[in-house]
Amino acid sequence: MSQRSLAYIFQHQKLLVDENLQLPKVEKLASDLLIHPNDHVIARDLLEDEIIPEGLQLVPIRDLIQTWSTNDFLQASRAVQLLEWRRNHKFCSHCGHRTEIHSKEYAMICPACGYHQYPRVQPCVITIITRGNNEVLLAKSAHNKSNMYGLIAGFVEVGETLEEAVQRETMEEVGLKLKNIRYMSSQPWPFPSNLMIAFHAEYESGEIQLQLEEISDAQFFKFDQLPQIPFKGSIAHSMIMQMTEKRKAS
Ligand SMILES: [Zn+2]
Repeated sequence: MSQRSLAYIFQHQKLLVDENLQLPKVEKLASDLLIHPNDHVIARDLLEDEIIPEGLQLVPIRDLIQTWSTNDFLQASRAVQLLEWRRNHKFCSHCGHRTEIHSKEYAMICPACGYHQYPRVQPCVITIITRGNNEVLLAKSAHNKSNMYGLIAGFVEVGETLEEAVQRETMEEVGLKLKNIRYMSSQPWPFPSNLMIAFHAEYESGEIQLQLEEISDAQFFKFDQLPQIPFKGSIAHSMIMQMTEKRKAS
């Protein structure tokens, strides 16, 4: 079976998969309204009146990140973001005329004024803050009812460098000053269209002061006494694991 025979069919953030959480074959499904996230696969939205074939189900893509390989998940993430973007750009943001889908590139074109709209990502910084050699700052989100402790994260504002965003978010959410802010890695995060940019920073000064609308608790934890951390597949998980391994190795 070639890869091209696989289809990504979405209903917003849910993806059509079989009972083993694998992608369905294209032949089973109507193939109009397709877009091509790359040369190997096709993707489209579930049609309004489309009947879901027997044996297939809609599963939130958030649930697939833990079972799929990183590459498979990134592919699905790219497809869902392009579809979502297309759905949200049916009209020209310049003159309000109905847009058309560009035949060759990912763009929506306005036939009235010629304006091209391209997909955008939202840059979002996420920071692992260490203190001394064996402590890491973890924070519990006020919006999350679970007992999970994650990292400080937030959107980059207009006119701000990534490092400034790291320091501002940390100051706003936990009141700490940082030093030695260094880039680690990045990950596209399709909820809905973020690019997570990971940093490591060291604690410089200040007492923890919570921004209670955002953070319900934040503490420095010893690396060998971590609380419940974000799930495997998330960038926060890999950042925490990477730092923990580094401490063990040194
Ligand atoms: Zn226009």
